[in-house]
Amino acid sequence: MLEIKNPYQYCPSLIRYERFRTREVKIGDIALGGKQPIRIQSMTTTDTMNTQATADQCVRIFRAGADYVRITAPSLREAENLANIKKEIQRQGYQIPLIADIHFTPNAAELAARIVEKVRINPGNYADKKKFQFINYTDATYEEELARIRKRFVPLVRICKQEGTAMRIGTNHGSLSDRIMSRYGDSPMGMVESALEFVRICEDEGYFDLVLSMKSSNPEVMVEAYRLLVHKMMDEGMNYPLHLGVTEAGDGEDGRIKSACGIGTLLEDGLGDTVRVSLTEAPEAEVPVAIHLVERYQTRAQHQPIPFIAQIPVNPFEYKHRYTYAVENVGGEHVPVVCIDMSDAKNITPSDLQAVGYTYSEDLDKWHISDQAADFIFCAEKIPFALPGTLQVILPYAKWQQAKETAKTFPLMDKATFLENTAKSPILNFVQADTSAIDEALCNALAATPSAVLVLHTQNEHAMADLRRIFFELIAKKYDFPVIIYRNYENLPNEQMQLFSATDAGGLFIDGFGNGLWLKGKNQSAAFINSLSFGILQASRLRISKTEYISCPSCGRTLFDLEETTAMIRQRTQHLKGVKIGIMGCIVNGPGEMADADYGYVGSGVGKITLYKGKEVVKRNIDTEFAVDELIKIIQEDGRWQLE
Ligand code: SF4
Repeated sequence: MLEIKNPYQYCPSLIRYERFRTREVKIGDIALGGKQPIRIQSMTTTDTMNTQATADQCVRIFRAGADYVRITAPSLREAENLANIKKEIQRQGYQIPLIADIHFTPNAAELAARIVEKVRINPGNYADKKKFQFINYTDATYEEELARIRKRFVPLVRICKQEGTAMRIGTNHGSLSDRIMSRYGDSPMGMVESALEFVRICEDEGYFDLVLSMKSSNPEVMVEAYRLLVHKMMDEGMNYPLHLGVTEAGDGEDGRIKSACGIGTLLEDGLGDTVRVSLTEAPEAEVPVAIHLVERYQTRAQHQPIPFIAQIPVNPFEYKHRYTYAVENVGGEHVPVVCIDMSDAKNITPSDLQAVGYTYSEDLDKWHISDQAADFIFCAEKIPFALPGTLQVILPYAKWQQAKETAKTFPLMDKATFLENTAKSPILNFVQADTSAIDEALCNALAATPSAVLVLHTQNEHAMADLRRIFFELIAKKYDFPVIIYRNYENLPNEQMQLFSATDAGGLFIDGFGNGLWLKGKNQSAAFINSLSFGILQASRLRISKTEYISCPSCGRTLFDLEETTAMIRQRTQHLKGVKIGIMGCIVNGPGEMADADYGYVGSGVGKITLYKGKEVVKRNIDTEFAVDELIKIIQEDGRWQLE
């Protein structure tokens, strides 16, 4: 077991890929943790009372590559039916370890624990009814509460121990108990304590087959909570396996980027024993995404060495943006800039710029600039027409010299050119360097040139850690020049590029590093990379350029077609930049899980929707057919509606 060496330690190493060694826990015949591969899981969306549909979906999820399948068991009836589902799966010739998902109902958990291989409980609602009440607990009343929970929880622990059933204690940011909220607030520390209170009860009973999770729909909160959990586990001599997930990530590109930002960031540091990607799509579609995320680490330990870090100058449990001065619109208080590489395009015309957010109308002789308009394009040649409003151009140094343009066109140079006494832009100079080229001479020259911005890249396979090491050094040595994160993903298909770049750059942004993003692919269009770049910045919550949807993945409790409804709401509200809309399948867990959404659309009965503003109910049980219109009315009345 690792011994805790410093107040910020949360993983085996920040420079060497190594998995945090957890204890092995058996889930049926497929163990997780320890030296086992990182396991994949998903969850059914069918009605648990529909034995055939649920068993068929379990088989489809398993055949897609998942190791385990989770099924919701909201009451005794569903818990009981798990036995029939299991039989039907076996009849089809499969042995799939099943996990029962429990909320609020200890008796369902106790029954399920005798049938399936693992139960998942949420400590925020296992023995507590959440009333969103703030009660000022004294130490004595807090202890009384814990004693009450112990009494409710111990029977389940004893059944699990006796039956060899594993248990996940899964904290969700949005559903912390009133008790935890009153003492720790809505914080990563509250999430950790919420799980550890239950863990200590298990340990007192001599039961250790536990898996822990700290989910949130906000990747930053989720990453901080998992890091803090591991830190606390190291401190208390625990080593339980980790289940990783970003809740209510949404669908499509957004869901994938958000999941990778959270899950990938933790995997990079060797944290995580099983992964579930929660998308508002068919559960089978989640499995390949999780596989791509995890596969990346099979050979990662063979990466080139990363130099030793003498000092960790940041607190990994709290977000703090690295201080830099501004060079024009890069760094300082500016949002991170987006740079798009268009150097492969010959003779760029105004219509080519539509891909990066600038649409030219010949009739009106006007440009329309979208919320996702790139800040810089890197071109092989000078642009032969007047650039639209905010767009600026980066040229290779030799081309920039020939172009003799200074106002909106800037050079990209390598280290040697920059250090030579060559002509420079009086406004902005981009200096591209690999991590291996970063030394004192370069840093001093960058710091002495107020127009210089570093474009940082790496060849190291353990890229995020290698780039992070440079940010640590810059902070420790008080170099305050802005840095743009550059990553080149040649020869990757779109989905892998989405996931890998969201992991590498998202992980750095979550730590407060980076004043811009420059992604390059070989097979990807400028439009794809532009949308991806803005998606990563949105998921990191550093640059909001679109509406955010916090939609649950749906499960057996879901009361409407979530995929279809999310698409319908998206179609009508996708122009509401910065508005967060929660779309939740059920009223039991939805309001808690939609966390910091501004508005909520929550299933509250068959054909009925309840609408929320923040955590407050605004309209209760309205018919589904009017619900989207009513949601829009609420946004309008709130003054947050914008014309498309
Ligand atoms: S919020 Fe969605 S995924 Fe969560 S329990 Fe309700 S329906 Fe299931």
